[in-house]
Amino acid sequence: MKGLIDTHCHLDRLDAVEPALSQAREAGLSGMITIGTRWSERRKQLDLLACDGPSMRVWCALGTHPDHVGEEELPGCDEMVAVLDHPGVVAIGETGLDYFHGGEETRSAQKASFRRHIEASRKTGLPVAIHSRMADEDMVTLLQEESEKGAFPFLIHCFASGPYLAKAVLELGGYLSFSGLLTFPKCEEIRAVARDAPSERLLVETDSPFLAPVPKRGKPNTPAFVAYTAERLAQERGVSMERIIDQTRANTARLFTELVL
Ligand SMILES: [Zn+2]
Repeated sequence: MKGLIDTHCHLDRLDAVEPALSQAREAGLSGMITIGTRWSERRKQLDLLACDGPSMRVWCALGTHPDHVGEEELPGCDEMVAVLDHPGVVAIGETGLDYFHGGEETRSAQKASFRRHIEASRKTGLPVAIHSRMADEDMVTLLQEESEKGAFPFLIHCFASGPYLAKAVLELGGYLSFSGLLTFPKCEEIRAVARDAPSERLLVETDSPFLAPVPKRGKPNTPAFVAYTAERLAQERGVSMERIIDQTRANTARLFTELVL
C-alpha cells in the first residue's frame, strides 16, 4: 500500500533521520513534510531537503510556532516571501495560536506573528500549517477576519478540537489534518469530526516525534506511524485503507500545490 504522505513531522527532532526514512518506506509512505518551529532555525529544514529522493519524497515548511514567538523576531513579509521561494518549500508554518501557556501579552504577539504568516501565504500561494490549541474562539475570529482580506489556503494540523472549530475551518475552505490523537481512547470528539468531515478535506500526519498513535503510544513517534492513524481514519469512516490513502494523497497534492508527486 504505497502512497501515504505524512503532512507534518519534525525530522530535525528525531534521533536519527536515515532509519526513520527507511522505516517509513517499509510502512508504505511515499513522502513527508518536515516542518520548522523557529524561523531563525529554517536552515535545518532546508538542509533536510537533501533527503528527498525518488523512493521517499521530502518537502519542508518554514515558520515560527506560537510557543516561540517571544524568542525571536520574524522578518518582514517580503523577506519571508524571498526565503519561501525555494524548491521543496511547500508550506508556511507552523504558526497559529496556543493558549495553553502565557497571558494576554503572549496572545497578542502570537496573533501578530500568525497574521504575518498568513500575509506571506497570500503572496506566495503556499498553504499555512496552523497549530491551534485551546484558542478556538480567537482562531475562528482571526481566520474569518483574514479570509475577508483575501483568501489563503490553510490546514489545521493535529486537529484537537470539536465541531465548532471544524465547521468554521471547513466553511473557509480549510483542511483538517488528523494525527495520532485520532487513536487515543479519550479523543472521541476528534473521531466524530473525522467521521463527518468531507473526504476532500482530510489529511493525515504524525507530528513526530510527538504523539505516537496507538499501538505505539508512549514511544517516540516517527513518520512510519502515520499508517496507524490512516487505518483508524479508514475504520471510523467505514472505507478501505486504499481509499484513505488515495484520498489523502489527492488532498495533499491539491492543497500543497508546490508538492509535485
Ligand atoms: Zn508540529
